[in-house]
Amino acid sequence: MTETELDPKFVAVCASCDTMAVSEETADGSIRPLAVPEDCTCGDGDFRRLV
Ligand SMILES: [Zn+2]
Repeated sequence: MTETELDPKFVAVCASCDTMAVSEETADGSIRPLAVPEDCTCGDGDFRRLV
């Protein structure tokens, strides 16, 4: 079995429009999308992590 390396990137969804975006967790624990998808019209809304 190969142990999966810790990958800081994960999928998060916009709290406002539920658009998914690949995101990363910053050193202070907040979630930041790597690129805000076009479908997310609210731009820099809050993102929450999808498990
Ligand atoms: Zn959005």
